[in-house]
Amino acid sequence: MPESTDAREVIVIGSGPAGYTAALYTARASLKPLVFEGAVTAGGALMTTTEVENFPGFANGIQGPDLMDAMRAQAERFGAELIADDIVSVDLTGPIKTVTVHRARAVIVATGSGYRKLGLPNEEELSGRGVSWCATCDGFFFRDHDIIVVGGGDTALEEATFLTRFARSVTVVHRRSTLRASKAVQDRAFADDEISFAFDSEIAQIKQADGKLAGVVLRDTFTGATRELAATGLFIAIGHDPRTELFKGQLELDAQGYLKVDAPSTRTNLPGVFAAGDVVVVVDHTYRQAITAAGTGCAAALDAERYLAALN
Ligand code: FAD
Repeated sequence: MPESTDAREVIVIGSGPAGYTAALYTARASLKPLVFEGAVTAGGALMTTTEVENFPGFANGIQGPDLMDAMRAQAERFGAELIADDIVSVDLTGPIKTVTVHRARAVIVATGSGYRKLGLPNEEELSGRGVSWCATCDGFFFRDHDIIVVGGGDTALEEATFLTRFARSVTVVHRRSTLRASKAVQDRAFADDEISFAFDSEIAQIKQADGKLAGVVLRDTFTGATRELAATGLFIAIGHDPRTELFKGQLELDAQGYLKVDAPSTRTNLPGVFAAGDVVVVVDHTYRQAITAAGTGCAAALDAERYLAALN
C-alpha cells in the first residue's frame, strides 16, 4: 500500500512515566518510536515535584526531574526520537494515523491529566514545599504537621482520612456547607476526631515563610470575613482534568473526559490506538501514581507491538 510506505511504526504522545516507558519498550522492540514530549511540560507531572520516595529502585528516593531525565535518557539510548512539541491535531481513524504532519500505523496516547489548581499566586512555587496535590505521594513527608485539605468530594475526604496517619491535625476546607463525597466516605471522615471542617470557606491567600508554606487566609463565602489558619501542609483535592481535548470525537471518553480502554488491555475504541497513564479512566480514577503510569506505558507498548506484528 503506497500510503503506508512513509509511515512509521509508532508515535507516542506524552513524556511522563507512561510515555517514556512506552517509548523505551517500543524502542527496544526496534519500532523506532517518535515521541512528542509536549512543549512546556516535557517530562510530565513529576517535573514539578521534589523528592519521589515511592518509585521502586531508588532506595534513597530521587528528585522528580532527575527520575524523568533518567527515563528520557533510557528511551533515547535505544533509539526513541524525541520532539519537545505539543500535538495540536490528530486523525487516528484510519489504518495510518496522522499526528500533525507525521504518520504512523500505531499511536500510544499518554497525555496525562492536570491537577486543578486554586489559581493563587504562590501555589505552584510552593509545590513540594508544603503544597501538594497527592496524599499518597507526599503524606509521608508531613509527619506531625498541621495540614489543610481543600475540597469536598470523595478524593478530598479520603486524602484527609489517609493524612491523619501522619499529621498532627487535618482541617478540611470546603466552600459549601455540604460535602459532595459519598455518604460512607463522609461518615468515616466525620467519625474521625483528628479531622475538623471549615465549611463555607475558601482559600483567599497562601502564606509563606522562608520559602515554605506557613498557612492560609480563609474567606467566608457568605460574609467575606477572613481569618488566618496556620498550616505547614496544604493538599489541594479539587479534581483533575484529563488532557483529551485533542481526541474528542475520535476516541471514546467517559463523562469526565478520561480515555476509555478495553481493560486489562490498553486498546482504545480505534484499532492501532492505545492509551496509558493518568489519561485513562481505570488508572487515573484509581491509582494516579508514577509506577502505575509506567506500568500501563509498558502494557501499551506491548499491545502496540503485538498489533503491528499481526498486521505484517
Ligand atoms: P504525566 O506525567 O502528566 O505526563 C503527561 C505528558 O503528556 C507530559 O509530558 C505532557 O507534556 C504530555 N502532553 C500532554 N498533552 C500533550 C500534547 N497535546 N502534545 C504532546 N504532549 C502532550 N506519583 C508517584 O508515584 N510518586 C510521587 O511522589 C508523586 N508525586 C507527585 C507530585 C506532584 C506535584 C504531582 C503533580 C504528581 C505526583 N505524582 C507522584 C503523580 C505522578 O506524577 C503521575 O501519576 C504521573 O506523572 C502520571 O504519568 P503520565 O505519564 O500518565 O502523565
